[in-house]
Amino acid sequence: MAFTMRSNIPKLLGINAELSTYSVPVFEKDLPNGIWGAANIDRTIVIEKDLKPKDKKSAVEHEMMHIMQFKNGSVRYDNKNVYYKPNKGSATEIFPLTSIRPGNHKLPWEKSIYDKTKTYAK
Ligand SMILES: [Zn+2]
Repeated sequence: MAFTMRSNIPKLLGINAELSTYSVPVFEKDLPNGIWGAANIDRTIVIEKDLKPKDKKSAVEHEMMHIMQFKNGSVRYDNKNVYYKPNKGSATEIFPLTSIRPGNHKLPWEKSIYDKTKTYAK
């Protein structure tokens, strides 16, 4: 009984235990239509709960790279803007949230991920 309860806790919290890492928990939620996942500045990830297992993996792979961008300081955001600084020496580019569609593949911080993963994840 204790064992069953313990193994059910991640599920109760909506955590995908398999795809979570020690430092980055992955939560499954009902996300807006067409959105596979999102990385949060607090270093958590949410993914659409109804994706196929394979797509969940791709979504987490993609969002983990955003977490890396937050960690290395190349990308950060607040409730007004996204700030992008591709390299240590480069100037910070500011993208007002009202002017972009988050997740658009052409955004520089998305493009650099898609160039690496070659995997499609929204
Ligand atoms: Zn992305």
